This record gives sequence, C-alpha cells and structure tokens, in this order.
Amino acid sequence: MNAHEFRRRGKEMVDYVADYLEGVEGRQVYPDVEPGYLRPLLPTAAPQEPETFEDIIKDVEKIIMPGVTHWHSPYFFAYFPTASSYPAMLADMLCGAIGCIGFSWAASPACTELETVMMDWLGKMLQLPAVFLAGEAGEGGGVIQGSASEATLVALLAARTKATRRLQAASPGLTQATIMEKLVAYASDQAHSSVERAGLIGGVKLKAIPSDGKFAMRASALQEALERDKAEGLIPFFVVATLGTTSCCSFDNLLEVGPICREEDVWLHVDAAYAGSAFICPEFRHLLNGVEYADSFNFNPHKWLLVNFDCSAMW
Ligand SMILES: *Cc1c(COP(=O)(O)O)cnc(C)c1O
Repeated sequence: MNAHEFRRRGKEMVDYVADYLEGVEGRQVYPDVEPGYLRPLLPTAAPQEPETFEDIIKDVEKIIMPGVTHWHSPYFFAYFPTASSYPAMLADMLCGAIGCIGFSWAASPACTELETVMMDWLGKMLQLPAVFLAGEAGEGGGVIQGSASEATLVALLAARTKATRRLQAASPGLTQATIMEKLVAYASDQAHSSVERAGLIGGVKLKAIPSDGKFAMRASALQEALERDKAEGLIPFFVVATLGTTSCCSFDNLLEVGPICREEDVWLHVDAAYAGSAFICPEFRHLLNGVEYADSFNFNPHKWLLVNFDCSAMW
C-alpha cells in the first residue's frame, strides 16, 4: 500500500468506523457463536498470495463481526464500561504513524515528556497529593501501564523487593527464598481477580480479608489478619485497597486501612481502576480521601475517561 492508496483506504476506514458506531445499536450485542467458531473460517496458514483490501474488509463483516461482543452498544450492560471516543481513535492513528518507542528520553523526547506532563494533569484533576506529581523538577510522577492488572503486579513486585531489601539489611544472612516463603499480601474478598493473579505471578501468599456488610474492607478485619499472620511468623508486606470494586462499586475504607499500613510498614496499593475517573468530579472526590497513605495508586482512563484501551494511569 502506497501513500496514494493509504489516503483512499484511510477515508474508507473512517467511514466504516463511523457507520459501525452509528449503527451499533442495530447489531446483536452478544454473538451467537460457539467456542472455536473462527478457525474453520480461516486458512490454516498465512496465504502466499495477497488479497485485495475490499476482500479483507468483506471478511471483517462476514467472519469477524459475527464473533464480536459489542461493548459500545447501548444494550451492553456486562462487566464495566470501556472507553472509546472519536478523538482517542484519531490519536491512536497518529501514534501509529509516528510509531516511536519511548524506553528512554532520547528514544523520543516528546513521548517521554508528554506522558509526564499528562500524568501530572490527570493527577491534578484527581487532586492527588503533590508528592505523586512530577512537577517542575520532574522527579517521581506517574507512568502509563497497559492495564490495571499490570499496575497491581508492578506494585506487588516493587513492594516485594522493598520488603526483601529491608529484611536483608536487618539480617544479612536471610536469603530471598526464605523471605518470600513468609511474605503475605492482602486484599478484600471483593478485590478484582487480577490481584490474586499478581500474587501467583509474584510467588507470594495472598489472603482475602472478609469485607463488611457494605462489601468494604475495614480496619478490624485487616488488623486481625495481620496479627494472626505475624504471630505465625509470617511477614505482611502488601495491601491492595479497592476504590470501586468491579462487582458492585463498593469502597474499602482507606482512612482506616491507610494508617494501619503505615504503622505496619506495609505497602498500600490503591486500585481505583474503574471508579477512579469519577474523583475528578468535586462531589465524588471525598471517596479518594486517604490516598495520602498510598504507596501506589492506579486508575483506568480506558474505562471511564474516553481513552481507548490501553491506558492505565499509575503513580
Ligand atoms: C477492571 C478492573 C481491573 C482490571 O483492569 P484492567 O485494566 O483490565 O487490567 C482491576 N481492578 C478493578 C477494581 C477493576 O474494575
């Protein structure tokens, strides 16, 4: 495809996308297909001869769309809302065109710097404490992760390393393996499944704290678990508090849980994946009170802030 054809196909694609979204209400929200429906409809290996763009687009309607769950249909009420917007789609196109990699400042200065500035904008919109922001000095600040699941894993691994170093500094003979056997992470029984997965990948125990009548993690239940585990010689090192659980949008009590984590020298990660965007509204900001106790905080602009997947903001 040369630039001439790209201009033409690009305009066609924009029309296809706009038609899709304008007409999404008319499509069946959940597909009628059985698992494995797609494989028999496709060649077993990549074709040797190219196909025309028209034929490929026809295949999209014929074999892909019948297997798509239409998350942007007005009749979609499953899971959680996932963001999509025309400006974000245009931005994705530009990102694809620039096609840069941002692993260091020099790899693409604008890429690194724009991320830092936008993360500060978001942090200020949420009124995060100043220590979360990069500011003029450019120290600290947030980073974009692919997903909230990744953010939780990154936080857990960082907390594990921090705890391991602290314990080894106090008792130089301790091996990492001995320490890891004893490390325990905690989250409410309402936490997202990705928290349990982070514990599995990180090779540490994860314990579910029973939530109260409003599906919130409270001080008493957490304190009880910490005391029991410490008495057994285990080492609590990580707590995930959820602000807006995926199942029912309940809120762990950050003002109770935060001080306990600080007292016990336990890393507090706050997962506000989907409800986090709401804290931009002054009337909901109080639900974020206690974030000043957090070691790390995360929410997903790709859920409720008009940015297409994937964009998970982590500080
Ligand atoms: C959706 C959700 C997640 C997972 O988000 P991904 O970005 O898809 O990994 C984690 N925690 C909560 C509370 C969620 O609602």
